[in-house]
Amino acid sequence: MSDGFVGLGSNLDGPEERVRRALNELDALPRTRLQRASRLYRSPPMGPRDQPDYVNAVAWLETELSPLELLDCLQELERRQGRRRTRHWGERTLDLDLLSVDHVTMATDRLQLPHPGLADRSFVLQPWCEIAPDYEVPGLGAVNDLARLCPGPLATPLEFR
Ligand code: ATP
Ligand code: CA
Ligand code: CA
Repeated sequence: MSDGFVGLGSNLDGPEERVRRALNELDALPRTRLQRASRLYRSPPMGPRDQPDYVNAVAWLETELSPLELLDCLQELERRQGRRRTRHWGERTLDLDLLSVDHVTMATDRLQLPHPGLADRSFVLQPWCEIAPDYEVPGLGAVNDLARLCPGPLATPLEFR
């Protein structure tokens, strides 16, 4: 069993509903269960400004899948929710980033672990800190410390889950 952390984001076509649905879909993956999910957060877009705010969350999975098998599953869920590749960091129905798995570090074209952007992204670290503050991100330190040190706009929890 591995602990895997997934960052969810959506800013198109009913983002709250999409993120909630994706959390259920993660729980339903083979040999995987959802251990904990953060609340949903709202955050300003990274990259192009002329797009809607994002709804973000982080999921803690327990899984027997390998990191690459898990990435395959995440990309299939993105496709099923109608993800289209448009401009870099542009609007999307669903983005599922594999943030980190256990103590794993790897750097291939298809998969980098830990996810390279996470230390600069408050919309990842705030929800992550809510569910796993003591998790040690390989090479980077505890989620809690990363969240405290992270610059950038605040993500705010939505009122209702
Ligand atoms: P960012 O990665 O900066 O958050 P993005 O989510 O918009 O940007 P995508 O277009 O979703 O980027 O992904 C581009 C590629 O990144 C994917 O095809 C995937 O193979 C690769 N990738 C590498 N490492 C990871 C990871 N840890 N999680 C998800 N995708 C990854
Ligand atoms: Ca992303
Ligand atoms: Ca992605």
